[in-house]
Amino acid sequence: MSDNKKNVIARARAIIDSYDGKPIRIMEVCGTHTHEIFRLGIRQILPDKVRLISGPGCPVCVTPVDFIDEAVYLAMERDVTICTFGDLVRVPGSFGTSAQTSDKKTAKIGSLAAARAAGARIQVVYAPQDAVAYAREHPQEQVVFLSVGFETTTPSSCLAVKEAQREGLTNFSILTANKTMPSAYAAMKDSTDAFLYPGHVHAITGTGICEKLAEEGTSGVVAGFTARELMTALAVIVKKTQEGSPFFENCYPRVVRAEGSPAAQRLVEEMMEPCDARWRGIGVLPQSGVQLRPEYAAFDARVKFNIPSMQGRENPACRCGEVLQGKCMPSDCKVFGKGCTPEHPIGACMVSGEGACSAFYLYGGDR
Ligand code: SF4
Repeated sequence: MSDNKKNVIARARAIIDSYDGKPIRIMEVCGTHTHEIFRLGIRQILPDKVRLISGPGCPVCVTPVDFIDEAVYLAMERDVTICTFGDLVRVPGSFGTSAQTSDKKTAKIGSLAAARAAGARIQVVYAPQDAVAYAREHPQEQVVFLSVGFETTTPSSCLAVKEAQREGLTNFSILTANKTMPSAYAAMKDSTDAFLYPGHVHAITGTGICEKLAEEGTSGVVAGFTARELMTALAVIVKKTQEGSPFFENCYPRVVRAEGSPAAQRLVEEMMEPCDARWRGIGVLPQSGVQLRPEYAAFDARVKFNIPSMQGRENPACRCGEVLQGKCMPSDCKVFGKGCTPEHPIGACMVSGEGACSAFYLYGGDR
């Protein structure tokens, strides 16, 4: 690390260490922030008055139980090939559920990993375009890509649908659980004194929503992901909090511009429409998701396969919902590190590489 970077970090740390105001709760709403903050040891050096809490920023963690149930249904009942990011494979679906469909086979399958063990075709991919390629190479199979994530990943799902449409692929569709951040901010604003906004989300959306929230009294800064960027962002929060007025500052200007990415925004606007969305452990937040517009119904797996309504049930021992809202720490969950570990996860927050529970487990908690 260069001397200049070390100096910036040292100055930021001095500002944070000298903080002498009321206790501050800072909510990360980005799984990558959560893990980088742990990995870099930042939590451990913060004074007691500056507390970081993890919010609903991990896309896999907020994906609801019934979405996993829908994917399992497609794989087990409709002979569909599921293409998905790896983390979703081990995320638990309904726990001890009664029949989701008339077929008892599906009722016993609690995850895509279990479906794969039972013979279903579950392909791990790294991008939606990989799923399109799989569909192209396997014309005899119906292929569904599990489209999850926030504003950062939605455009690539749209591009995959465009590609499939251009090529005339009739065996490709997507199952959407894409979410948008503004509703999460609104739902979480009373749990925090300032947001550490996710840099990659606002590289797409721009900063208008953050500025509006500041005008309404909710503070926050957009942050990058390096030690210098994170420490600078935290120092800005501490300094501005001491000044007393609600604030917003873009601390990631090398990537985030006020207008975001107009091209990505246009693409999503053209192909997707807002919808109510269920967040794991939180419930339905109105207009907090996006789904394909009716013009793209041929690529919408829910329409194409007429998926029945699923009433997912979470494991009652799991407190992911409270963890995702910053209402409790992972270590407050009775099964943390005992019944629930990264090898044997009970909840999504322990599965995902971006989940707060897995970060707590891997890096040894707060202190
Ligand atoms: S430790 Fe496991 S069961 Fe508890 S909240 Fe986290 S993921 Fe859920």
